[in-house]
Amino acid sequence: MGKCIDEINCGMFGSAVFSDAVMQERLPKPVYKKLKKTIKEGLPLDPDIAEVVACVMKDWAVEMGATHFTHWFQPLTGVTAEKHDSFLSPTGDGKAIMEFSGKELIKGEPDASSFPSGGLRATFEARGYTAWDCTSPAFVKDKTLYIPTAFCSYTGEALDLKTPLLRSMEALSKQALRILRLFGDTTTKRVVTTLGPEQEYFLVDKEKFMQRKDLIYTGRTLFGAKPPKGQELEDHYFGIIKEKISRFMHDLDAELWKLGVSAKTKHNEVAPAQHELAPVFATTNIATDHNQLTMEIMKKVADRHGLACLLHEKPFAGVNGSGKHNNWSISTDDGRNLLDPGTTPSENAQFLIFLVAVIKAVDDYADLLRFSVATAGNDHRLGANEAPPAIMSIFLGDELTNVIEEIETGVVKNNGTSRTLEIGVSTLPVLPKDNTDRNRTSPFAFTGNKFEFRSVGSSQSIATPNFIINTIVAETLSQIADRLEKAQDFKAEVNAVVKEIIKNHKRIIFNGNNYSEEWVAEAERRGLPNLKTTVDAIPVLLAEKNIKVLEKHGVLNRAEVLSRYEICLENYVKTIRIEALTMIEMASRQILPASLAYVGKVADTVASLKAAGADSSFAKEELDELVSLTSGLKAAIDKLSAKLEEVDAHEGDSLEHARAYKDVIIPLMNELRAFADKLETMVDASLWPIPTYGDLLFSV
Ligand code: ADP
Ligand code: MG
Repeated sequence: MGKCIDEINCGMFGSAVFSDAVMQERLPKPVYKKLKKTIKEGLPLDPDIAEVVACVMKDWAVEMGATHFTHWFQPLTGVTAEKHDSFLSPTGDGKAIMEFSGKELIKGEPDASSFPSGGLRATFEARGYTAWDCTSPAFVKDKTLYIPTAFCSYTGEALDLKTPLLRSMEALSKQALRILRLFGDTTTKRVVTTLGPEQEYFLVDKEKFMQRKDLIYTGRTLFGAKPPKGQELEDHYFGIIKEKISRFMHDLDAELWKLGVSAKTKHNEVAPAQHELAPVFATTNIATDHNQLTMEIMKKVADRHGLACLLHEKPFAGVNGSGKHNNWSISTDDGRNLLDPGTTPSENAQFLIFLVAVIKAVDDYADLLRFSVATAGNDHRLGANEAPPAIMSIFLGDELTNVIEEIETGVVKNNGTSRTLEIGVSTLPVLPKDNTDRNRTSPFAFTGNKFEFRSVGSSQSIATPNFIINTIVAETLSQIADRLEKAQDFKAEVNAVVKEIIKNHKRIIFNGNNYSEEWVAEAERRGLPNLKTTVDAIPVLLAEKNIKVLEKHGVLNRAEVLSRYEICLENYVKTIRIEALTMIEMASRQILPASLAYVGKVADTVASLKAAGADSSFAKEELDELVSLTSGLKAAIDKLSAKLEEVDAHEGDSLEHARAYKDVIIPLMNELRAFADKLETMVDASLWPIPTYGDLLFSV
């Protein structure tokens, strides 16, 4: 196993982080020990040590140039929020001192009435509070001390993405420890999930970006004809791209390293202007904080380099979209990866228990997992033959699949001879590690010692997919522990459990091409859900089994589930509405006027050709087509505007509202775009009001 990021400490890395090394150096020994124990074992923080920690943290931050502090949190908008307070405290004699108390460290009270709560919080009790998550280190950025926090209502309901994530890690730890105890592990105190999210993004020229209202308002292009083909052009432009981009990447690395984000950037050659950043993995909550920081810093650094960073799942139609490969595993507090097969029969048996727990979880809760990546932006990717389909399945690879089949039948076939395979007695064959993305089409792939969930959208917070994965795996582990704890013959019961789960859940395993039509049909035969769009996926959140599992493990209660359901639908509607309104504005005020101007020019040409007695038929043909497209464009704008008003007038039930957006508004948006994109290929380039796909994709 590689190094976890909090063990890495070299040079500038983490220089702006209130890291373990800083704490060890500056905190009184007993306080340091107590805080470490709190962090390691996930205990509540003792208010006595909070005073000391706050004071030391403030001194360190002030030395780092900080004048303010902020409780940094992750509301349900999916982006981070912060409110800055000064350390400055007037002393009454016209002077001031720098102050920061333990209370201010532990708890904050942002005026949070305008963050989404999905009806959880009436406005009269609008205030929520933020609580320090001491498992994620504080850091200094822009002269401000950032304190990572969870955000809750006064009645304790989660109003953010971090709270359920922390709760789910707790739940998984509890259940995984039960399993470890059964296998004789008496020392592990805590089990964590580890995460390495690979982030994809596009970089385009800032000036061109600023000329496109769609990119500014929605993060994606809502119009744009396909650029002329030419892979050889990409090669040609490659050298130029590299220089500017690599300067950006160096700068980005430096900024991220300071904040303790262990980025390893690399160029991605799949789509023009598209790149990828992979960090070294960390515990899930730190990795989640770091991914939010990464997205934010990417945009900031890009701006400095005259670039715009696009994090949208599908900035360009017809060009590969962006995702986030969510590499996930389970580890003991001393760094033993529980999804590593190991080499002894006992390690193998324990590995198989964790493996089948994941298999069962994904099968039992495929719908919930699908929900966890459901956003309007990701709808453009999933199932579009460039990203995994909306159907959830697991890739195990041939070697492990063989082992699983042999376990199910109890017979190992080896060169014609066969022997029985007994878990806990026989050793598994050595499984090759798969770091090669051998099957990029699978949504949930086992890659040797971790699972890679590839359906996550590039712009979304990874908190949701991970709290779902943690919760559903906690559930299957608890079911398994219930059985094993009662077993008379432990080994026999381990064998029985593994066999039974394989038999009942192997339908979720698929090693073939997930992009194929055959798989869609096959998955249907196997009874696997295929929730094609966000609007199909959101309602599964309310399925009784899904509410139950979230409730049982203390991750979300019923009211919190309901609020998230409402917010997801609301976000979907808002996103599409902004897109539709942006299209109307661009079409009415840019594309239609440009098209009309060109129509006028061509009409003049036809008239002068006629007057001169020349052949004008070809120009007339062109004119007729332009007129027909332009009037089509105008009609499409009007129709979309009218339908938007109509759909919003009948608001009522939020699911019905979202459905209307999907079934009525999106098709009209596509219709409008088709007219505009066709016009783009005909109208004089000097009149076309916005940068084209070619301009954007080959702009750097
Ligand atoms: P590469 O793709 O560079 O060959 P990997 O496929 O092993 O390397 O890693 C891809 C991502 O998975 C990286 O972000 C890495 O840190 C992460 N990763 C590796 N091991 C684990 C683990 N045990 N848990 C979570 N993420 C991991
Ligand atoms: Mg990978």
